[in-house]
Amino acid sequence: MSATETSANATTLAPVEGDRPQWGTAIPFFLIHLMPLGALWTGATKLDWVLCIAFYFMRLFFITAGYHRYFAHRSFKTGRVMQFIFAFGGATAAQKGVLWWSGNHRHHHRHSDDDEDLHSPKHGIWWSHFGWILSSRSKPTPMHLIKDFAKYPEIRFIDKYYLLPPTVLGLFCFAVGGWSGLWIGFGLSTVLAYHGTFLVNSFTHIWGRRRFVTSDTSRNSMIIALVTMGEGWHNNHHHYQRSCRQGFYWWEIDLTFYILTVMSWFGLVWDLHRPTERALTEGRIKDGHFDVGMFDAYWAKASQKMLEAQVNASRRMREAHLNAEAYAEAKRKALDEFVESTKDRAREVAAKSDELIESTKQTAEDVARLAKGPAGVAD
Ligand SMILES: [Zn+2]
Ligand SMILES: [Zn+2]
Repeated sequence: MSATETSANATTLAPVEGDRPQWGTAIPFFLIHLMPLGALWTGATKLDWVLCIAFYFMRLFFITAGYHRYFAHRSFKTGRVMQFIFAFGGATAAQKGVLWWSGNHRHHHRHSDDDEDLHSPKHGIWWSHFGWILSSRSKPTPMHLIKDFAKYPEIRFIDKYYLLPPTVLGLFCFAVGGWSGLWIGFGLSTVLAYHGTFLVNSFTHIWGRRRFVTSDTSRNSMIIALVTMGEGWHNNHHHYQRSCRQGFYWWEIDLTFYILTVMSWFGLVWDLHRPTERALTEGRIKDGHFDVGMFDAYWAKASQKMLEAQVNASRRMREAHLNAEAYAEAKRKALDEFVESTKDRAREVAAKSDELIESTKQTAEDVARLAKGPAGVAD
């Protein structure tokens, strides 16, 4: 994706008329989903499964720590080399370039669950899960939202050639495990990493509990936190986006944060931002704060239902009106047919009675002739 293409539509992320599928993204996306099926022919070795699990977690880490917590939220600091490694590692997940991903994610936080949000579950769960990625609406990179990282030429390079890292990873899997390594080690782990990441956009706004009042419907879910290396604490995250640690308490498992902490011991990353005391206690629903996000969501749902009911009622009234007209028309037609058939019947009866009169007359004449006949003979 070029910089010119990306900035042209930078401010037009709102729902647009004539939104259409992006086949250039959709076809490769579906083809990658078919890759694991190749193992039906080749089988899979233990090594393939090891690669699959390792590359699933490796990529989830780079997406979570790199694309999300570093590039989108700047929740910790690192050097320029490590910054590039995060961008390259995130791109191995084949989820487009770092500027596209992080810019759109910043957009999500600005517009969570409002009409401009690219992947709000308000538009349906499948839309929020992956439909939005395949639509033309999500094609541009909102460069104006990610200027701080777009200034690095190496980041712009890897953002533009975002297919390079997954290609390198795919070739590595093929070199190490052959075809089955490619199907399972690369293909299956890519598909799983897709849906692991997408869960954060879709289900963390639907499943789980809300601790804090936010203007959206974000929730906390332990299950999603486990499969996404800590991204399931999404309500915490929407409440306090600056925090590198998304599991706020010791029981809120956040693998990405643990790995970043270990990295910080070696000086690879630093200034890991943690939730402040105020962030931990402010706006908690259990303290009686009004849950404006859920209220808005319910209100939007109720208005939608009322609108649907209104549309249904007027449709039914229109149908009833049309039905009454159709009924009267059918009755009129039936009456016409009845009158017509009665007339036909009457004509038939009249014709028959003419025939009868004619034949009676004929018979009478015959009788008369017969009666006359023998007398003539007698004369
Ligand atoms: Zn975020
Ligand atoms: Zn969210």
